[in-house]
Amino acid sequence: MSEFKINTVLVTGSNRGLGFEFVQQFVNRENPPETIFATCRDPEGARSQELKKLSEKHGNVIVIQLDATDSASINAAVKQVEKHLNGKNLDLLINNAGVLNPQSLETQTAEDMLQVYNINVVGPMLVTQAFHHLLKRPGEESKAKSAIVHISALLGSMQEVPKLFSHFPVISYRCSKAALNMLSCCHAVGYKQDGILSIAIHPGWVQTDMGGSQAPLTKEESVGEMMKIISSLNETQSGTFVDHTGKLIPW
Ligand code: NDP
Repeated sequence: MSEFKINTVLVTGSNRGLGFEFVQQFVNRENPPETIFATCRDPEGARSQELKKLSEKHGNVIVIQLDATDSASINAAVKQVEKHLNGKNLDLLINNAGVLNPQSLETQTAEDMLQVYNINVVGPMLVTQAFHHLLKRPGEESKAKSAIVHISALLGSMQEVPKLFSHFPVISYRCSKAALNMLSCCHAVGYKQDGILSIAIHPGWVQTDMGGSQAPLTKEESVGEMMKIISSLNETQSGTFVDHTGKLIPW
């Protein structure tokens, strides 16, 4: 049984891929959230047109500019969200935005390592920090009522390295997702007294621009499964790393 109700949700990187699918599936729920803050880097760009159309059709989808690596952009997004919420809280933050650059041990550069870390780790850290006051449920230690979902990856699991390394070395991506998992654990422990749950979810290998067309899962399948996990989140799952089916992944 879930300990929180999703009336308000914010998704990063929601103009395409899994982020856009999250917004679509929230919109199509039997009881959709009152407000879905669909954030993306470039709301007017060519790759945001589908999201724009969706928001024109559904009044509860609010498109907001948010570059997860840019503090000024994040702070401006917080102000807009606060205005829309008008004193209400944020129930769910989905840190979905991410990048993968296919670097091997031989080709990995410092520049790429830092860029990927900045987007995949510093981004979720800054975004969560900035929205923390809206997620926080003061004085309700035992009853969690909000959640942070970090979209992580199996490639960030250290125990899985021997199985997949030769096919997918992706050094900067692996290191960044391992670090994101640590951030998620820190959020789970550090924000427990604020009534905030934190979980890291591997969406499976999914057909998106990042996952490619050979991936076995469709966006609909992956997000559909993740929605089930999110909807029934409880305190015992906070601080864990699971796949889209809810199975625990070893660190
Ligand atoms: P896509 O490449 O399809 O989409 C990535 C999204 O992240 C885009 O909306 C992109 O925006 C956004 N983004 C990138 N950088 C930033 C930034 N600085 N600020 C805000 N948004 C940004 O990827 P997926 O949808 O496949 O991936 C979503 C998440 O799922 C990622 O975290 C990824 O690591 C994870 N994942 C995906 C898997 C897969 O098989 N697809 C497997 C495991 C994990 P823009 O259009 O502006 O570039």
